[in-house]
Amino acid sequence: MSDMNIKERDSLYIANTYNRFPIQITGGQGSLLYDENGKEYIDMGAGIATTTFGTSDPEWIGAVTEQMKKFGHTSNLYYTEPCVTLAEMLTSRTGMKKVFFSNSGAEANECAIKTARRYSELKYGDGRYKIITLDRGFHGRTLATLAATGQDIFHQSFLPVTEGFLYAKTNDLDDVKRLLDEGGVCAVMIEVICGEGGVIELSPEFIRGIDALAHERDVLFIIDEVQTGNGRTGELYGYMNFGVNPDIVTTAKGLAGGLPLGATLLSERVENVLTPGSHGSTFGGNPICCAAAINVLSRITNDLLAEVRAKGEYIKAVLTASEDVVSVTGMGLIVGVEFKAPTPKVVEKCRENGLLVLTAKEKVRLLPALNIPWALLERALIIMKDAAHDSI
Ligand SMILES: *Cc1c(COP(=O)(O)O)cnc(C)c1O
Repeated sequence: MSDMNIKERDSLYIANTYNRFPIQITGGQGSLLYDENGKEYIDMGAGIATTTFGTSDPEWIGAVTEQMKKFGHTSNLYYTEPCVTLAEMLTSRTGMKKVFFSNSGAEANECAIKTARRYSELKYGDGRYKIITLDRGFHGRTLATLAATGQDIFHQSFLPVTEGFLYAKTNDLDDVKRLLDEGGVCAVMIEVICGEGGVIELSPEFIRGIDALAHERDVLFIIDEVQTGNGRTGELYGYMNFGVNPDIVTTAKGLAGGLPLGATLLSERVENVLTPGSHGSTFGGNPICCAAAINVLSRITNDLLAEVRAKGEYIKAVLTASEDVVSVTGMGLIVGVEFKAPTPKVVEKCRENGLLVLTAKEKVRLLPALNIPWALLERALIIMKDAAHDSI
């Protein structure tokens, strides 16, 4: 097309919203990716927790192409089979009652926010619309989910964001209680691990405390499983590690293994809140994306989940034994690592040595495919430890 390289064309034609790593991905297989020079990388990011079974997984490609050959899109004006089958799978494995499908995490959360406001409005009338979220949380980039994201830095220059969000201190149950006592609250929304916020673990007491407080007051408990869902923590959804009963669960990222699909799962309490015309999405529940997600969910078996937990424990054991590591947080295959060396330097050295990792705040963040082979995981940790050692 032109003599310009990809980087020049990207900066000419793509809105300047991303700080990209200086490589072009041209292919991949499983947990390996290749750049424009044929250099091989171990992928510890999986498209940000999205390619659940890695890149170009043959079974996943089979499921997607089979649906593509039948039909690709119809809109929600007609009945289609893949979205119903997927909704049956999601509800039977969670005990939730109904599903609304969309295309992203932000949209899954928008649906949760609308459902919470409408539940409260129908039952209690006007004025009970506030939602408590956490000051280290992240819920998306639309104006409402940006407002739900309690980190000020995301709001700057976009004011006014959607009104009605209160921010509690992360892991401070008294602060949640204080905000609930102010009144006018219809829901509390949290991630069970604050992913973008720096892979911050919430204490089980905090999560269970919110569950109890919310339910005492008929305030809905919404859990954002966009990043922690679909097997990532070693349970199908992260909340299942804590024995709590959310009223609404949202997910996206890894659900369809690399195609865009969001889902908002509704419990018995809210299953009939949304009615025809109250919400919708043109692409939501797209048959190709749903066929992909059916394949993904059917492979998140108890055996796979046990393996995710074992891999997570292995990563933690190897890294905490290193004298160059300050802390390791997370569960299963969502891991945050604080090295003594500066994170950008570690990330760059890893890349030079054939390993792709992510960051979250001041940490290195690991979100590999759930089926990453043990041998690649071992190699990745050796490269990372060496990179951290050489970066001090
Ligand atoms: C990524 C993420 C979102 C936003 O998802 P998009 O698909 O980018 O809209 C929302 N919540 C959490 C917890 C996330 O990690």
